[in-house]
Amino acid sequence: MRYVSTRGVAPVLEFDDVLLTGLARDGGLYVPETLPALDLAACQGLSYADLATEVLGPLTGDSIPRADFRQMMADTYAAFDHTAVAPLKQIGANDWVMELFHGPTLAFKDFALQALGRFFDRVLSDRGERVTILGATSGDTGSAAIEGCRGREAVDIFILYPQGRVSDVQRRQMTTVEDANVHAIAIEGDFDDCQALVKAAFNDLQFRDRMRLSAVNSINWARVAAQVVYYVHASMALGGRPLAFSVPSGNFGNVFAGEVARRMGLAVDTLLIATNVNDILTRFFDTGEYRTRGVTATMSPSMDIQVSSNFERLLFDMVGRDGPRVQGLMDNLKQSGGFTAPEDTFARAQQTFMARRIDEDATLAEMRRVHRETGEILDPHSAIGTAAARQARIDRRIADHVPTVSLATAHPAKFPDAVKRAIGIHPALPERLADLHDRKERSITLPNDLGAIQRHLQTHARIAQDAS
Ligand SMILES: *Cc1c(COP(=O)(O)O)cnc(C)c1O
Repeated sequence: MRYVSTRGVAPVLEFDDVLLTGLARDGGLYVPETLPALDLAACQGLSYADLATEVLGPLTGDSIPRADFRQMMADTYAAFDHTAVAPLKQIGANDWVMELFHGPTLAFKDFALQALGRFFDRVLSDRGERVTILGATSGDTGSAAIEGCRGREAVDIFILYPQGRVSDVQRRQMTTVEDANVHAIAIEGDFDDCQALVKAAFNDLQFRDRMRLSAVNSINWARVAAQVVYYVHASMALGGRPLAFSVPSGNFGNVFAGEVARRMGLAVDTLLIATNVNDILTRFFDTGEYRTRGVTATMSPSMDIQVSSNFERLLFDMVGRDGPRVQGLMDNLKQSGGFTAPEDTFARAQQTFMARRIDEDATLAEMRRVHRETGEILDPHSAIGTAAARQARIDRRIADHVPTVSLATAHPAKFPDAVKRAIGIHPALPERLADLHDRKERSITLPNDLGAIQRHLQTHARIAQDAS
């Protein structure tokens, strides 16, 4: 299977290279040249791991032999705490929540990153190579990436996080991992500083090549692909009826996976994009104008974004897969902070997508409502999803007969302060993390300085030691 860049210039690649490359060399994102069709009959009645083999195998170009792939998927989803892996719970007459937080770090990012770590190890050991993964995190991505890569022979992972600006649980999930190939680094700066450092390290091409730098951020195609599986899983669980999915969204990776599922033939009525007050996506789907604003800190920090990096993948399809046209729109975004979507394509996108913005008060109110009416405890991100679904139902934008499935993207114990504030209950960590606060932390602090980061990698990455 071949993958092309959304900017149309970078070389066409096979899956293994798309996995290792992350961002295309022309600044674009890789997408499959053509999508495989789902065999929905074959998807029925499968365990989650077998469903992942059926759905995800073709999305990775079947580059790993079927039997090996099946085993990898069995290992990947055995790391989850719930036998259903992604259980569905009914919270209304025709409304469900799909719990995507039973993985090792309690957020949906585990679904993709647990698989990704295994893909990296497999592809690299086949080639006898090693890489150094470098990433920045505002919280959830870092711990999920670390859990996916810990102890892997072919990978060293360095994650930068803003000192004092991630929650206790989030920090400890990164700093208490003992494996020698894991390096959590507190940066004296904010998340933007961390991201700028990562970008600068990648832009130093000599350094990048010497360290074999690689990325696992949400623009990596393999992450989107792995997320397609649970959309199919929900559909199978609810009998194959067309569903409306409500997806708490930031970088547009999760909801775009739903769009991929739809294009592969899944019955999808609506993809509802639920945002907090950082609502570039909601404003876009209301007006057709994609325009940046500043970032506001909220109770749902994993959705506090200025631009949605995966949105470019939808845009590519909206403009008829015209790479230069995407390049032009992205240039506008860079130079003047925004662009307007071509009208005809925008109308088409609106047939599938709809968006809602849920502010802080409405988020708290929804956490209270769901707890009162059903006993379920939602984290703020997940509550934004159910609140959006409920609004769309009340507005009759989603018909009564269409089941809604809201994606619960984080475990409530990951955001205990917000939960406490909403319903007065301090949610307990699941058993596997119950002793998190007693574990020994191992972290170092570095200044907001590229040279310091580079020296640190040079000293600690195995690839540098291999070479010297
Ligand atoms: C990352 C994250 C999101 C946003 O997902 P995107 O794929 O970036 O849209 C929502 N909720 C939680 C808990 C997250 O960690």
